[in-house]
Amino acid sequence: MLDPKAIITIDGPSGAGKSTISRGLAARLHFTYLDTGAMYRAVGLALQRQGIDLADTEALKKCLAGIELALSPNGDDDVLVVLNGEDVSLAIRTPEMGLVASRVSADPLVRAKLTALQRQLGEKGSIVAEGRDMGTVVFPTAVGKFFLDASAEVRASRRQKQLAEKGQIVAYQEILDQISKRDHDDSRRTLAPLKPAADAVIVDSSSIGPEAIIEGMLASLAKIEPKGGKHDG
Ligand code: C5P
Repeated sequence: MLDPKAIITIDGPSGAGKSTISRGLAARLHFTYLDTGAMYRAVGLALQRQGIDLADTEALKKCLAGIELALSPNGDDDVLVVLNGEDVSLAIRTPEMGLVASRVSADPLVRAKLTALQRQLGEKGSIVAEGRDMGTVVFPTAVGKFFLDASAEVRASRRQKQLAEKGQIVAYQEILDQISKRDHDDSRRTLAPLKPAADAVIVDSSSIGPEAIIEGMLASLAKIEPKGGKHDG
């Protein structure tokens, strides 16, 4: 049986269905859902707006120290992201901000800030944390780890549909190119690269619907012996 204070991690490339599945799984478990991609996007937006050059570490440190981020559920399928008192939930969801987030996320100071914040948010457990390095770096002792993958083409079509639902019409090829670039950069960076944790269950979502995936995850979590999933370091 799953510890009610467990930490569950879901990592994977963009467009693999992590948000829908993490949110759905969190709802089924009555856990909190943590969208760490939204955090990298919000920090990317702050740095972009202030014109911070990542090479200027003093300016970067100062800017990061002044960033206050708050995430909360916003209806069934959205997250409210508040950056220094401003609702940036929509502004961070563009494909461009995905690329900006990917660029700033390779920086050690940015990662240190967000890793600390993510661990703080996960301190009490009962959380489904979604991202790229949840199972490998941020919550290495999590009891349930999944790595969600799908072909780049399937992911690009899904992302195009999601954007269209938000009123953003973007060409399929443009999205596919951006996804491929992000996959490449995210998995080859030195710090916290995108990769499955050694003890993660790998799930290919190319041809399985979210409901069936969530059921499969619940079945796999039900087999776990309780041992506490809290991060202890
Ligand atoms: O998941 P999402 O597409 O919103 O993430 C945006 C970018 O933030 C990713 O491409 C990745 O570079 C970065 N990211 C990360 N570590 C996480 C979550 C996101 O580096 N845990």
